[in-house]
Amino acid sequence: MLDVTLVPVLNDNYAYILQSGSAVAVLDPGEAAPVIHKLEELGLTPSIIFNTHHHYDHIDGNKKIREKYNAEIIAPKKEQSRIENISRGVEEGDTINFGDEAITVLETPGHTSGHVCFWFKGNKVLFSGDTLFAMGCGRLFEGTAEQMFQNFKRFNDMPDETAIYCGHEYTQDNGRFCLSVDPDNPALIKRMKEVETIRNNKKPTIPSLM
Ligand code: ZN
Ligand code: FE
Repeated sequence: MLDVTLVPVLNDNYAYILQSGSAVAVLDPGEAAPVIHKLEELGLTPSIIFNTHHHYDHIDGNKKIREKYNAEIIAPKKEQSRIENISRGVEEGDTINFGDEAITVLETPGHTSGHVCFWFKGNKVLFSGDTLFAMGCGRLFEGTAEQMFQNFKRFNDMPDETAIYCGHEYTQDNGRFCLSVDPDNPALIKRMKEVETIRNNKKPTIPSLM
């Protein structure tokens, strides 16, 4: 069984603590302190840090967490020169064993050129970094719209009930944009009401569903 704990960091980023059996990992720690605080609260020691891409708001906590727990860093091979101390560079189609689970690595260029998503296919869970958000996609900093579209075709093949854990709380902004182009969509209007309530209660809208 995969356990996911969401940790809000920086302005609107989410880092995650993952557990399966005795395996513990941290994903995209944009900041160390809140993640270490949560790990201590849960009494957990991570042996792995996963990074989806090289942006500071996803890796700035690497150093402190790596040094404190002697954790290895698993990150995109194509961004090896841009993330320090990677112990395992991963690329398209790689499988990573994590506790009782198997992770499939998907390369999803667009936001950055080497961006990867970590797909727990058997658990129907996707860590999408800054490629796929609730009701939106990441900004195209290092890739093309065509590349992003190809990523989305792959996401579209995943089961509808796949839980998406993304890198930021952008749901409400994305939804507002969706409403600006599709103002009469009843499903969108309904979802945005739910999102508004969740955000008014200062709760995360993550995970969302494929
Ligand atoms: Zn980013
Ligand atoms: Fe980001």
